[in-house]
Amino acid sequence: MRRRRTLGILAALPAAFLTACGRPGTGGGGTPAGPALDPDPSVGAPEMETPVPGWGDPDRPARVVNHGSRDGESVALTFDADLTEYMAGQLDSGEVETYHNEELLAYLEDERIPATFFMTGMWAERYVEEARRIAGNPLFELANHTYEHQAFTADCYGLAFEDDPEAMRADVERTFTALTALGGNQTRYFRFPGLCHDKAALKALGPLGLTVVDGDVVSGDPFAEASQPIVDAVLGRAEAGSVVVMHLGGPNAPMTHIALPSIVDGLRERGLGFARLSEVLAG
Ligand SMILES: [Zn+2]
Repeated sequence: MRRRRTLGILAALPAAFLTACGRPGTGGGGTPAGPALDPDPSVGAPEMETPVPGWGDPDRPARVVNHGSRDGESVALTFDADLTEYMAGQLDSGEVETYHNEELLAYLEDERIPATFFMTGMWAERYVEEARRIAGNPLFELANHTYEHQAFTADCYGLAFEDDPEAMRADVERTFTALTALGGNQTRYFRFPGLCHDKAALKALGPLGLTVVDGDVVSGDPFAEASQPIVDAVLGRAEAGSVVVMHLGGPNAPMTHIALPSIVDGLRERGLGFARLSEVLAG
């Protein structure tokens, strides 16, 4: 395995990552850290629903889906929960208080808004209680965002780069294993860090039978300094069937929870509602 480690840090690359998260086809970086996942059933982990078969054909490169049918009335709000080795170090040192956004999660829960969470395995293990809370809510759905937010292509906004297909598959499988332990609405959806992917990466993940979801509405919420540009970006592009890309990112996405109510209100005013990603893509 050849592994090139660059700086690979979201926090060090605000402008670059904002761009990175801003367009389909491009990426995110990190290594396992944090406490091991404790699948203690007494904490109330719900029973797992078996993932629906047919997420992808294991004999072909992973397919990429950006949005659902435009004939429906629903939009999928998706939230990436990133964590890298570097970010975990920031948490350990106290430099960063949290990479969770409690206000955002509480808003979705209180308003009963369906959402899909693309979790890194590291995030799910670090924030076990929050991850279980998300998994335990039938309105929410879990999806895979790599284990440690490494890029699977070169030159993905300075993120650490994994170029060995076997290692890519192992990383993604490890994440599915971590997420599956949480129960709830499991999927075989996958999102590349920074949305960076190429033919080699799609071919590498094909055998996992997953579907890559880039989304068609990039909110630009990483490192945002104001909420209105996020609102404008989403309301400017979202339509029926859209998949909106946002982040559950603590200080790396500090305005998302402020923008979200306006986004929800604005889409509702257009007659659009919200559904889990699997429902939007199926519909
Ligand atoms: Zn990410």
